[in-house]
Amino acid sequence: MNSNGLRDQIAGVGVAELAREYGTPLYAYDAEMIRRRCRDLAAWDTVRFAQKACSNLAVLDLIRRAGVLVDAVSTGEIHRALAAGYTAHADRAADPTGLPPAHPIVYTADIFDRESLDAVAKLGIHVNCGSSDMLEQLAERVPGASVTLRVNPGFGHGHSQKTNTGGEGSKHGIWHEEIPDVLRRAEWAGLCVTGLHMHIGSGTDLAHLAEVAGALERVALEIGRSLTTISAGGGLPVPYKPGEVHADLSGYFTLWDATRRKLEQTFGHRIRLEIEPGRYLTAESGFLVTEVRAIKKQGGRKYTLVDAGFNTLARPVLYGAYHPMSLCPADDAAAQQLEDVAVGGPLCESGDIFTQTDGGFVATRALPRAQVGDYLVIEIAGAYGFVMASNYNSKPLPAEVLLDGGKARLVRKRQTPEDLVRGETV
Ligand SMILES: *Cc1c(COP(=O)(O)O)cnc(C)c1O
Repeated sequence: MNSNGLRDQIAGVGVAELAREYGTPLYAYDAEMIRRRCRDLAAWDTVRFAQKACSNLAVLDLIRRAGVLVDAVSTGEIHRALAAGYTAHADRAADPTGLPPAHPIVYTADIFDRESLDAVAKLGIHVNCGSSDMLEQLAERVPGASVTLRVNPGFGHGHSQKTNTGGEGSKHGIWHEEIPDVLRRAEWAGLCVTGLHMHIGSGTDLAHLAEVAGALERVALEIGRSLTTISAGGGLPVPYKPGEVHADLSGYFTLWDATRRKLEQTFGHRIRLEIEPGRYLTAESGFLVTEVRAIKKQGGRKYTLVDAGFNTLARPVLYGAYHPMSLCPADDAAAQQLEDVAVGGPLCESGDIFTQTDGGFVATRALPRAQVGDYLVIEIAGAYGFVMASNYNSKPLPAEVLLDGGKARLVRKRQTPEDLVRGETV
């Protein structure tokens, strides 16, 4: 995007060319950006992608080739991981540095539905348990299993009430005060607790992070020497708004590494240190290409209406999330003048607005003056974008393409009208 809010290419491929070839709305992912974000985290023993952020098989395959492992929060995500080439369990070859083997796929949840319990038992998938009921359910099916405990340390740090992942306001994890009781139950059930996980998402706040690391250390000492892996969870932020910056990754790592080293000294063996980003790996790679279909004035406010709505990208309506936008004019001679507009979609729903703030208030954005037929690109849409898309208003799910080496590859077809009624009967 140039400083005038104009963009004619994404990762070396023309926006208009993409729109003509694959139609709009369209999700396009920059493969090299994903690889770069994987490399940023090379200091960690294990980077585990929270695939719920962007689970297209081609993206998972790319991430697997970059040496990143994967988290699954459902049976469907387990099947995606397997289809993308991940194996269900680690090969037991000893790591030359003495680190315990990493589980290629971990199932993380607060419950087992019947399907997921069947799947982890049959396939031998490692489980990160967010409730003590999961322990007994697993022990019955997989006697002697090793497990990870997801702990709620009693405080949180989400960027909205809906994304807060710790404290009394969060349903996630095993409450920290229950750990002694849960450890007794695990032992009684014959399970071995080898992993400890906290997903709080402190972002750039290193002081808060130190608090999380301290809480994890206390629980680790309660678990004792069976522990071989600790996970800092996800929640690494990305800059969405102008002026926001990337987190201090090395400060982040240093803090967790110090916690790991302390535990290694106490226990006398190596501890694997994991991080579990979702957003960080894919958000910036993703672009939602839309076409401007109508421009209208409601009193004093101008609306630019595009062919994508909250059925295509839900973050603005769910969280008041901000996404940068740029315009690719269909006509090169288009005016470059900026104007304040509200951007909305096609749904029969007044909340179908991309420029809204938390609480659902319609805001405006300064964008180059648009005309019907121009392409509006909604940026940093590669995390919690397509994966939250729906068929609301009987709209088809959009196509997805992967951009690599200046070429586009279709990695998911746009749904057809037949897809929309598949499985229904009258
Ligand atoms: C969603 C989630 C993540 C990833 O969160 P991001 O904010 O996208 O990094 C990591 N771990 C678990 C268990 C999650 O549910």
